[in-house]
Amino acid sequence: MKNFFSKWFDNSQSQVELLADSDDIDWTRIIPFIAIHLACLFVFYVGFSWVALLVCVLSYVIRMFAITAFYHRYFSHKSFKTSRIVQGLFAVIGATATQRGPIWWAAHHRHHHIHADGEKDTHSPRNGFWHSHLKWFLMKKNFATKSQYVKDLEKFPELRFIDRFDILFPIIYATGLFMLGSYLAKSHPELGSSAGQMLIWGYFISTVLLSHITYCINSLAHIFGFRTYETQDDSRNNFILAIFTLGEGWHNNHHCNPGSVKQGFTWWQLDFSYYILWVMNKLGLVWDMKAPNPTLLAKKQIRADS
Ligand SMILES: [Zn+2]
Ligand SMILES: [Zn+2]
Repeated sequence: MKNFFSKWFDNSQSQVELLADSDDIDWTRIIPFIAIHLACLFVFYVGFSWVALLVCVLSYVIRMFAITAFYHRYFSHKSFKTSRIVQGLFAVIGATATQRGPIWWAAHHRHHHIHADGEKDTHSPRNGFWHSHLKWFLMKKNFATKSQYVKDLEKFPELRFIDRFDILFPIIYATGLFMLGSYLAKSHPELGSSAGQMLIWGYFISTVLLSHITYCINSLAHIFGFRTYETQDDSRNNFILAIFTLGEGWHNNHHCNPGSVKQGFTWWQLDFSYYILWVMNKLGLVWDMKAPNPTLLAKKQIRADS
């Protein structure tokens, strides 16, 4: 019983399961994941207010940016540089998105790029849509971090801490939203909000939307859309996904040139994460942003997007 709960809070035990190499779903471990989805049903109890919807959207956008710009473009691909403080800050914000810690996230993602849609790819839709969307990370073996791919990130003790105790960050975040709701209910009763409402809209609904849209990059962005570049995988460019993921929908561009900080390569390929990073670069918060490689792109281009 002790082990049952402690696995939710301390990931250090997961490495053993990597060795077990089991495709089984870890049903005890994923209870919090199921509970987050069910908690959204409390929306019928707490009701709606415009301020709750606004906080839900803000909570989505800020955390999506932390995932796409930092967990993906920075931690996984090193497409720009930043200070240790900004690195730590976005590691924490990203952890509140409840997609595990930055080291685990980057390790699986680097592995994906090496084996994309091949036999060893952890989340290829060639093995089924639901497998690529979410089943892969519910499996016992994938709770572990593929350590050999992330030696550079494991050098930072603060990142190791976030990875080991990643569940702490969503709990603190959700508690903060609950307290914000409680404060707003007392100080601005005209807004019609409540502690429960902020918790359900700001954390639970926002997190479920954020999670599934992120998962769509592993599932739908390898199925639906157009291909501009000849890559070894099935990656696609998809406008709708690019809007909701702040630029990650240009997934075929990305698989062609994973080191580029920019994923939208033309003016109409909207890439909000890149625009925000551009502003952060002007403010001196990030630097050494890697541009797309024109020789590589010209070599692999199979259709004109201008
Ligand atoms: Zn991919
Ligand atoms: Zn990538």
